[in-house]
Amino acid sequence: MNTKDVCIIGAGPAGIAAAIQLKRCRISPAVFETDRVGGLVKYANLVENYPGFPNGISGEELSGLFREQFNRSSIDIIHETVEEVNPDDNLFRVKTTHNSVYCRYLIVASGTRPGKFDDFPLSGKAAGRLFYDPGLLRTKKGKSIAIVGAGDAAFDYALSLSRGNDIIILNRREKTRCLPVLSEKIKKNTGIKYQCGFRIVDISGSESGIVISGTISGKAKKIYADYLLFAIGREPALDFFPGGSCKHFREKEREGYLYFAGDVKRGLYRQVAISVGDGVIAAMRIYRKIREGKIK
Ligand SMILES: Cc1cc2nc3c(=O)[nH]c(=O)nc-3n(C[C@H](O)[C@H](O)[C@H](O)COP(=O)(O)OP(=O)(O)OC[C@H]3O[C@@H](n4cnc5c(N)ncnc54)[C@H](O)[C@@H]3O)c2cc1C
Repeated sequence: MNTKDVCIIGAGPAGIAAAIQLKRCRISPAVFETDRVGGLVKYANLVENYPGFPNGISGEELSGLFREQFNRSSIDIIHETVEEVNPDDNLFRVKTTHNSVYCRYLIVASGTRPGKFDDFPLSGKAAGRLFYDPGLLRTKKGKSIAIVGAGDAAFDYALSLSRGNDIIILNRREKTRCLPVLSEKIKKNTGIKYQCGFRIVDISGSESGIVISGTISGKAKKIYADYLLFAIGREPALDFFPGGSCKHFREKEREGYLYFAGDVKRGLYRQVAISVGDGVIAAMRIYRKIREGKIK
C-alpha cells in the first residue's frame, strides 16, 4: 500500500506553497497535478498585486518561477488527475486512473474550473470553435476572437489575446464587473472592441467560423468570429468528492486532517497571494498537529 503523511491535490500557487512549506518541516508530500505545475495564474496578462515584482510580472513568468522553486524542492509529483477521494479507516484514499495513494492528511488545492454556457445546446461545428480557457488560443494570430463575459478574467484574456488578434468582448449587462485598471486598459487598446447589453440568442458554427446571434436593446445583431471564448465565472473543482461535494468530510476538516487552500474555498476572493497564504497555513497546521497533536 502506497502511504504518505500528506497528499496535495493541485500544484497551483496554493499547492506549491503548501508543498514547499511541508518540505521545510521535513515532511514529504505527494502532489497530484493534471496539468503543468504553476496553476491558473499562467493565463494572467500582468500580475501587479503579488509583492516582490515592482513592475508587475506576466502570469506565465510567475507560474514559471513557482514551477522552478517547486522543482528545486524535489517534491514528489504525480502527473495524474485525481478522480476520487474516499475515507479508508483513518486515512484518505486518493485515486487516479493508475494509482491509489493513502494519506493521513489531505490538502485540497484544486482551484476552480470554468463555468459552462448551458443556455442552449451548441451544434457540433460551433462546439469545435468554443473555448473555456485561453490556452490553445494563445498561439493564434490574425484571428477574430469573441469573448463572452464581464469580469476580470474576460478583460484579462482580451488583453493577452489582443496581441495579433482582433477581439470583441460581449457583455450581456450594461455594466462591467472587472477592476478599473482592466477596463481602462481595454479602452486604450484599439484591437479590442467592447459591446455591452448583448444578449445571445443563438450560436452556430461552420468550417470557416462562428456566428453569435444576439440582441442589443431588442434589435437583432450578428457577430462573426473565428473563435469564441467564454469567461462566465468559475466553480470550485471538487469533482473527486462523492457527488462533487465535500460535506461528508466536514468531521475530518474539524479534526485537522483535511484542509482546503486557495481558490477552491475562496469564492470571489481568488488571488495568488491569498492562495499562497492558505497553502502555507495548511502546511503549518499539519506540522503542528503531527508534532504537538494540536489542531489550530
Ligand atoms: C485571467 C486571469 C488573471 C488573473 N490575474 C491575477 C492577478 O493579476 N493577481 C492575482 O493575484 N491573481 C490573479 N488571478 C487569479 C490566480 O490565478 C488564482 O487566484 C490562483 O492561480 C489560484 O491558485 P490555486 O493554487 O488556489 O488554484 P489554481 O491556480 O487553479 O491551481 C489548481 C491546480 O489544481 C489542479 N487540479 C485541479 N483538479 C485536479 C485534479 N482532480 N487532479 C489533479 N490536479 C487537479 C489544476 O490543474 C491546477 O493546476 C488571475 C486568474 C485568471 C484566470
